[in-house]
Amino acid sequence: MRSKEAAGSGTVILDGQEIPYAVVYSSRRKSWAIEVKPNATVIVHMPQQIPSEKVKKLVDAKADWIFTQVQKYTARTTISRGYTNGETLPFFGTEYPVIRKSGNSTRAEFTNGQFIITVPDTFTEGEQTKLARVMMIMLYRRIGTAPLEEIISRYAPLAGVAPPKLRIQQQEWKWGCCTPKNGIIINASVFFGPKIVIEYIVVHELSHLRFRHHQKTFWAEVGRLMPNYCDAEAILKTDGWKFVF
Ligand SMILES: [Zn+2]
Repeated sequence: MRSKEAAGSGTVILDGQEIPYAVVYSSRRKSWAIEVKPNATVIVHMPQQIPSEKVKKLVDAKADWIFTQVQKYTARTTISRGYTNGETLPFFGTEYPVIRKSGNSTRAEFTNGQFIITVPDTFTEGEQTKLARVMMIMLYRRIGTAPLEEIISRYAPLAGVAPPKLRIQQQEWKWGCCTPKNGIIINASVFFGPKIVIEYIVVHELSHLRFRHHQKTFWAEVGRLMPNYCDAEAILKTDGWKFVF
């Protein structure tokens, strides 16, 4: 844990629009910084207790930049999929067409390079889309298991760990995590990313089985296993927001 003290908040106003921010003090910091999270929350990091008026002055001077960032992330979070005809969905780096049928059953399958989703015709359009999304998450978890297991069996011996129990889940903000029992959980959304990203997330979690932190030794291990992991991180940073169901 970092020595952080959460204290204070404020609002920055530009063109009549208000954006709230939180102020966080950390004795470990040498300089101040503003961070805009992918969910568009604004955090002001401060090295020590500074009067709130002074913080406000610093933040106000950066108002333009904050607004640009917040707008970027707000626009980003509005990706919406219809899971219907005419759309394609990425899986492991390739886009595949979606075929939606209505019938008296509920089913999703991946056949001949197509995602075929069947939903009850008694449902409304909105209900069908919601159900199709849930079915697709389940399908991704199912067809994604074998390729993830393949990556695990390739890297676990190199990482010097026993192949962990794999669980694939749909999560909001985490790409992956470890369980207390040395298992790993991978976010089903990673299948929207290219191969290098999927491989990196598995390698990242495998490395955590020995190094349960983000210190230098951890990153050295990730770099040893996957020398080009920075390319994957860069893709996650610029395109990760698109990897959503
Ligand atoms: Zn991590």
